[in-house]
Amino acid sequence: MQLQDTFGRRFNYLRLSITEMCNFRCNYCLPNGNDCDTPKGGLSITEIGTLVKAFAKLGTTKIRITGGEPALRKDLVDIIKLCKQTQGIEKVAMTTNGFLLNRDIQKYQEAGLDAINVSADSLDPRMFQAITGNQKLTDILAGVDKAIAAGLKNVKLNTVLLKQFNYQQLETFFDYLKHHAVTWRFIELMQTGDNGAFFADNHVPGSMLKDSLLQQGWQRIVREKDAGPAQEFSHPDYQGNIGLIMPYSQDFCKSCNRLRVSSQGKLHLCLFAEQGLDIRHLLANDDVENVCRYIVAHLQDKDATHYLGQGYTGATKQLAMLGG
Ligand code: SAM
Ligand code: SF4
Repeated sequence: MQLQDTFGRRFNYLRLSITEMCNFRCNYCLPNGNDCDTPKGGLSITEIGTLVKAFAKLGTTKIRITGGEPALRKDLVDIIKLCKQTQGIEKVAMTTNGFLLNRDIQKYQEAGLDAINVSADSLDPRMFQAITGNQKLTDILAGVDKAIAAGLKNVKLNTVLLKQFNYQQLETFFDYLKHHAVTWRFIELMQTGDNGAFFADNHVPGSMLKDSLLQQGWQRIVREKDAGPAQEFSHPDYQGNIGLIMPYSQDFCKSCNRLRVSSQGKLHLCLFAEQGLDIRHLLANDDVENVCRYIVAHLQDKDATHYLGQGYTGATKQLAMLGG
């Protein structure tokens, strides 16, 4: 079985948020930390089990665990294991701010984690603190090194491009990539319900960085058809690669292959959908068939594209709600 929408796009990738809570205060996401009304109780591990079985039955082969900050969940290792052991799931990935990576990477790997994206918005501790409100950059990078040394094949770093902050220090990322065989992905800042003024001051079109990469001899890597929306580049003088995620570019949504479920059990057909569709009540009785029916029926309502270019941000106040 394959999930397909009315535009012929196929969906084999689930991004599952397991908590809305976060311990960082990234200036583009949660500048004041969590609100006091941030929902605390995420899906239970039993509910996650039902959900993952249903998606796997519908042809999902890859799950990305995200948040908020997924490492805040004490049962994270069990969740990784559960996803990995579900029949049909081939790849389990996670996006994290990395605050426990140095301590826990081995446990994640033993549980079956195949790939990890670590957010690091600067390589300069002071700039990192200015962006994230956190001082643990050195420890986070040590965790990244440990993940690479442990043989985790797919280690990627994520940086949101910010005109008034890290965009001034791009050369530090290039220096790092000379000697580190990782993919560093630069994400174009997206406008959300909460960050309008910050967006106006800090948005840099990813195409500007792309033009500069091409001028410096970086070459586009041809990727598999279902590889997702990042454009990747390599250069013979660098061990690492660069990825660009440009959600405002034309045709970005044409390659969409993912669906999202929030930690509160809401199905989001798009990161910027008008609303999440509540499936939590279906998860209680391990009723996999019913969950499958619900997903198939509602997928037909998925829009061709987000309307971010027109400033429409849907129900998404910030990306910690859904995991990016
Ligand atoms: N807390 C984890 C982390 O930061 O990696 C996982 C959740 S976070 C919402 C997932 C990704 O979304 C991170 O790479 C983050 O930098 C990115 N992100 C958050 N808000 C964004 C925005 N407004 N525009 C672009 N990327 C954003
Ligand atoms: Fe937390 Fe990730 Fe949002 Fe930063 S981007 S505040 S680490 S959820």
